[in-house]
Amino acid sequence: MARATSGTGASGRRDPNGGLGPSKPGGATAARFHRRVPPAAADAEGARDEPAALAAGLYLVATPIGNLADITLRGLAILRGVDRILCEDTRVTAKLLARHGIAKPLDPYHDHNADRVRPAILQALRRGERLALVSDAGTPLVSDPGYKLVRAAAAENLPVTAAPGPSAALTALILSGLPPDVFLFAGFLPPRRPARRRMLAQWAPLAATLVFFEGVSRVAASLADMCELLGDRAAAVARELTKLHEEVRRGRLAELAEHYRDAGAPRGEAVIVVGPPEPRAPESVDVEARLRELLRGSSLRDAAAQLAFETGLARREAYRRALAMRDPEPDGP
Ligand code: SAM
Repeated sequence: MARATSGTGASGRRDPNGGLGPSKPGGATAARFHRRVPPAAADAEGARDEPAALAAGLYLVATPIGNLADITLRGLAILRGVDRILCEDTRVTAKLLARHGIAKPLDPYHDHNADRVRPAILQALRRGERLALVSDAGTPLVSDPGYKLVRAAAAENLPVTAAPGPSAALTALILSGLPPDVFLFAGFLPPRRPARRRMLAQWAPLAATLVFFEGVSRVAASLADMCELLGDRAAAVARELTKLHEEVRRGRLAELAEHYRDAGAPRGEAVIVVGPPEPRAPESVDVEARLRELLRGSSLRDAAAQLAFETGLARREAYRRALAMRDPEPDGP
């Protein structure tokens, strides 16, 4: 069985039409790699198992985040062509496969068994098996299992490639109406309040849009902490993306926090997107109040930097004011 490179070869490029080889058809290894994935036209004919001849290796395949039609033609071809599929919950993946008429052995790979089953998976890759890794929804590894498997496979130069597709993080970002040019995907915030606030204080000075996954039961509390530690920025809560009840609620953090506090936890799944800090004229900001807020969650230096960023005050001046607030001069005699 042909073995694909893991992209560390001389060209480092992959065949965009399916295989793992270089992207130019005339490239040095093109003959070895092309035509491994069945042509896309075959998928259009519907649900049938392709006599695929995929190269050996690990294929990271993105799956829908709600709407089962959101999977790429290449993703389907790979799922049809591999020997077996590693997945978080076999029931969830079985449903997706049934929708597309694919029958494949499914092996669980999740947080609770990953360390135990990883050696056998690596052994299978060494033997030249073709394995797909999917998560319950979206892009595997993104707040989902798979990172240690990819790291271990890459360390041995075993072939790994990806069929990209949906991710709730990017879908929420592009629907948020917030600047998408520089963003930080922050994953899940810690569930406990003190750790969550420490984490938010760490992201506060970044001049970037922030994207958080959040359990719906914590949306209101997290929005309130964000408002306090990041300032009352423009934000959006994107819920049930690609599903029947998709909703993107946009507003300032304070309004959104109030809405979810009053309305109760929303249903389904949600992503919180928070815009970058918005510099405001120093005179329009209650500098004292904002500094007090910042000093509750960050170091003197970080609080001063954030204040300077938000108000346009010189850093040195912001630091002086922060210091004066933290260590007030004793009253004179
Ligand atoms: N790997 C997945 C991805 O790339 O989208 C994310 C998996 S993570 C365990 C699950 C979190 O993703 C949820 O708690 C929620 O924050 C977000 N999420 C997943 N599907 C969503 C959807 N349809 N609408 C909104 N958020 C979603």
